[in-house]
Amino acid sequence: MKINNKIKNKPTIICVALTGSVPRKKHNRNVPISINEQIESAHECFEEGATIAHCHVRNKDESISFSPDKFFKLKEGLRKYCKGMVIQFSTGGRYSLSKERGRMLSLKPDMASLSVGSNNFPNSVYSNPPELIDYLIEEMNKYKIKPEIEIFDLSHLFKAADLYKNKKINGNPYIQFVMGIKNAMPADKSVFNFYIKKIDKLFSNASWCAAGIGKYQSKINEWCIKKGGHTRTGMEDNIRLNKNMLAPSNASLVKLTADICKLNDRPIANWKQTRQILELPIKF
Ligand SMILES: [Zn+2]
Repeated sequence: MKINNKIKNKPTIICVALTGSVPRKKHNRNVPISINEQIESAHECFEEGATIAHCHVRNKDESISFSPDKFFKLKEGLRKYCKGMVIQFSTGGRYSLSKERGRMLSLKPDMASLSVGSNNFPNSVYSNPPELIDYLIEEMNKYKIKPEIEIFDLSHLFKAADLYKNKKINGNPYIQFVMGIKNAMPADKSVFNFYIKKIDKLFSNASWCAAGIGKYQSKINEWCIKKGGHTRTGMEDNIRLNKNMLAPSNASLVKLTADICKLNDRPIANWKQTRQILELPIKF
């Protein structure tokens, strides 16, 4: 596919999803688990061009944590060592239906992920009841946090459009499509193209991004880059550099994505450009 001139030279934001809630050291020992490992990993990724750090935190035994104390330490470290990088907390922690998923929002990260509907995951239901969604939106509005809307299924896109139309959320929408999770939306090119078309119809001013899970990661990176979107990589979604090799670091995945940008004449957005695109303050 030829890249048209409007897309060429448009800066691409690379988001790195450092840790997530699934991969463990036994799957890839390079997955950063402790706060220090996460900060170090984010710093390497920042140097390779990633300007959003999507963050989950873990307990010592690698289980999922929602501890505001851990999120606080991570935020402090990222502000110090990755100056300008956009800090995005996940409110998507699996297996929890409670408001603990939003407890750390009072720490005022720049952004937070926001799921606006439910779907299946490989071995569970990813449950986002309307009441919990409303609560998370309220908290994000209260603390002036920009949501990144996660689209795991088509209905979520329509829900997002409804939220913006009814001014439940203000500002330019930032929408992320997640594709390639077993039992949810597959990494299907025609669906991807349909999503992008629909975004233009449903929103007048949205930016978008997509994440491919597992072996679909770099394929989705390429689709995004060629279509003029932003993109996400990192070990939360995929622990392999390629079919034969585990990723030596998050930074190696960022570099792979940055190389796809270069191949397609898409410059990588620096932190200031990223903040401008996302309408986030340059001074903080
Ligand atoms: Zn996440």
